[in-house]
Amino acid sequence: MSEKIYHPLEVWFVTGSQHLYGPEALKQVADDARQVAAALDAAPQIPANVVFRPIVTTPDEIRNVCIETNSAPNCIGIIAWMHTFSPARMWIAGLTQLAKPLVQLHTQYGRDIPWDSIDMDFMNLHQTAHGGREFGFIGARLRIAHKVVIGHWQDAETLAELDVWMRAAAARHDAQGAKFARFGDNMREVAVTEGDKVSAQIQFGYAVNGYGLGDLVAHVNAAGDRQIDVLIEEYESAYTVAEPLTTGGSMRSSLRDAAAIEIGLRSFLSEGGFKGFTTTFENLHGLKQLPGLAPQRLMADGYGFGAEGDWKTAALLRAMKVMAKGLDGGTSFMEDYTYHFHPDGMKVLGAHMLEICPSIAAGKPSLEIHPLGIGGKADPVRLVFNAPAGPGLNASMIDLGDRFRLLVNTVDTVVPDAPLPKLPVARALWVPHPDFKTAIAAWILAGGAHHTGFSQSLTVQHLQDYAEMVGVEFLLIGEQSTLADLKKELRWNDLYYHVTGLRGW
Ligand code: MN
Repeated sequence: MSEKIYHPLEVWFVTGSQHLYGPEALKQVADDARQVAAALDAAPQIPANVVFRPIVTTPDEIRNVCIETNSAPNCIGIIAWMHTFSPARMWIAGLTQLAKPLVQLHTQYGRDIPWDSIDMDFMNLHQTAHGGREFGFIGARLRIAHKVVIGHWQDAETLAELDVWMRAAAARHDAQGAKFARFGDNMREVAVTEGDKVSAQIQFGYAVNGYGLGDLVAHVNAAGDRQIDVLIEEYESAYTVAEPLTTGGSMRSSLRDAAAIEIGLRSFLSEGGFKGFTTTFENLHGLKQLPGLAPQRLMADGYGFGAEGDWKTAALLRAMKVMAKGLDGGTSFMEDYTYHFHPDGMKVLGAHMLEICPSIAAGKPSLEIHPLGIGGKADPVRLVFNAPAGPGLNASMIDLGDRFRLLVNTVDTVVPDAPLPKLPVARALWVPHPDFKTAIAAWILAGGAHHTGFSQSLTVQHLQDYAEMVGVEFLLIGEQSTLADLKKELRWNDLYYHVTGLRGW
């Protein structure tokens, strides 16, 4: 069996039961549970290792496994299954201590009712139907948000739902103790990219710290000629290189500068153990050009990135990159830039000054150099490409002062109506759901940022599971959304969060 995408991360499979039906029934429960856990572990759709844990039948056993979960460094969450009936007061001591995500697998060992042979022994063993409700009650009573996956454990849909949940749990896990570096502060006077770093660290687990440009410049200046040569060879094999950047071209030295910036950024980030970073065009002291190519390529390697000091988007993008690991399609930093208001088909042109991840490129990116009107530095090198047509979504994390809100809008990515020969940046063109006008109005009323994480890999469910795990508000603008409902949801959510306060895992 090939290694799991998230190896060595693991999910613990915990089965609840009781002693009511004697040791023989318990042995059967343990055998069945072991088989289900092994099947999940062996399923190629399941991205993390699934570890069978001995069945739990007492409050102490349940409390112990929950405490062990919390301190197991590779454990990202628990799958709980009530094969028989596990009186749920036994779970109170454990669940109130559990600090990692929980999914209730509401499945049954035997898929079908054996019409000819079913007797009371079969009924007593197969009690998920009501045993799972007992477990659900204590979750509701304790106000513990958890995911419930319903279906037979061999069914592809069940596995797909567990896959999504595990991806979200892996992203949550990845953020615990994660570090993000900021070069320069926020773009001056911009509101939505601001936020409370202390609240974010409490809520998500990651730390954001600022570094002087001089610290980065020292790494950039340390890039050797040979290192730069090797990296440029890599560029030449991966991209179509524009004439001025080729050997002997008029801007060749700018390409060498861009390569040095990439080498310096990589060295800074790996030396410091960072999972993402931000830059800003207002603070480039000591850098010859605004980093463009470097953030593009670092994003493609899984780093989170936010422009103009946007650390919330950098961290969200990193989480989305972790969730999307191994899936088809790309995930990028994005900004809704310009509209096409034509009555025959309104759409949004998404792009940024430079920094769009080539994981969303349709075809071979073009490596180009063009002037940049702001920042006051030399012309920056960047990759230019289109995103392919197909379903996608934009996600934005905003700080409302008393809480974070994760806003998601599903979109159809479309091909441009015509080539864009003079547009010197990578771009994606999309039609948002449910329709252009409703989506844009809803996004604006919900306070969504201009910066987003754009993904053609993830679904709404990935982000919803993630939001529930980290305890933030989740708001969807999707195919079924109406403006009237969304306005109500905004008001109700304000009330809900005001009354309940924040509740993370
Ligand atoms: Mn921007």
